[in-house]
Amino acid sequence: MYPWLQSTFLQLSSRIASNKLHHALLLQGEDGIGKDAFASSLAKLLLCQERQGDQTCGQCQSCKLNASETHPDLYKIESEKQIGVDLVRDAIKNLTGTAHMSGCKVLIIYQADRMTESSANALLKTLEEPTDNTFLLLITENPESILPTIISRCEKQLLPSPNFVNTVAWVKQHHQGVIDENFARLFVGRPLTLLNELQQEQNYNYQDFTTGIQGVMTNNLSAIQLATDWQNHSEKVIKWLQAWVKQSYLSTQNEVFWQLNIRCIAASKKLKNPGVNKTLTLAELLTALANFESN
Ligand SMILES: [Zn+2]
Repeated sequence: MYPWLQSTFLQLSSRIASNKLHHALLLQGEDGIGKDAFASSLAKLLLCQERQGDQTCGQCQSCKLNASETHPDLYKIESEKQIGVDLVRDAIKNLTGTAHMSGCKVLIIYQADRMTESSANALLKTLEEPTDNTFLLLITENPESILPTIISRCEKQLLPSPNFVNTVAWVKQHHQGVIDENFARLFVGRPLTLLNELQQEQNYNYQDFTTGIQGVMTNNLSAIQLATDWQNHSEKVIKWLQAWVKQSYLSTQNEVFWQLNIRCIAASKKLKNPGVNKTLTLAELLTALANFESN
């Protein structure tokens, strides 16, 4: 378990031990803190037949099936795009039967904010009248995009992010190279994201990024020219830009940064569409940044 999630895991484990765990948890927290791994560990603990406190036994039939990712009572809903109603209906059908292993049944919904309105409505009845020994673990970093009717029927469990010092300390244990402190600041509290960024082969670097962004903000560089130069790195630029405006918002509370953050999220969604003009999408975003400075 990641150190920053340890105490939350212990709290939930002790509630499992005393049969007091709510049947539906909304696990919310930042991107890059290990929410999926947390949910997976919690599910394994729930399914273990011989658990000891916060530890699974590792020996029982359930643990063995979990180790091979084939536990018949562990269901998952995940989708790259929207979570359609069929996925939810199928999962609910599985949950209404009796458990294969005489223990409980667990459904994990990854990025639960991707549920459509009909998906969410299909899930409501199960949340209201859960079958015995059924647990639902909904994971999200955008709880504001989930229907309030779903939120109100779950117990919210905020998963904490480590502070800057602990973020860097953990990443240093897993990354050999030098870590640029300014770059690390883009990902405060998101150690897995930072590690992932550091481990990717960089044919575009943070120095290029900051020089370009500063050039646009001081109107020394043309947003359109820069977008053209960076068109092969659009995803990365937008990802870093979003991290940067978000950190800027958190440290200044300037609403304009929040607006830029929303624009970055929209732009990165847009880039996922096939055939989208990446240069244009990036140019629009950089233009917004240039205008921000002159305001
Ligand atoms: Zn076990």
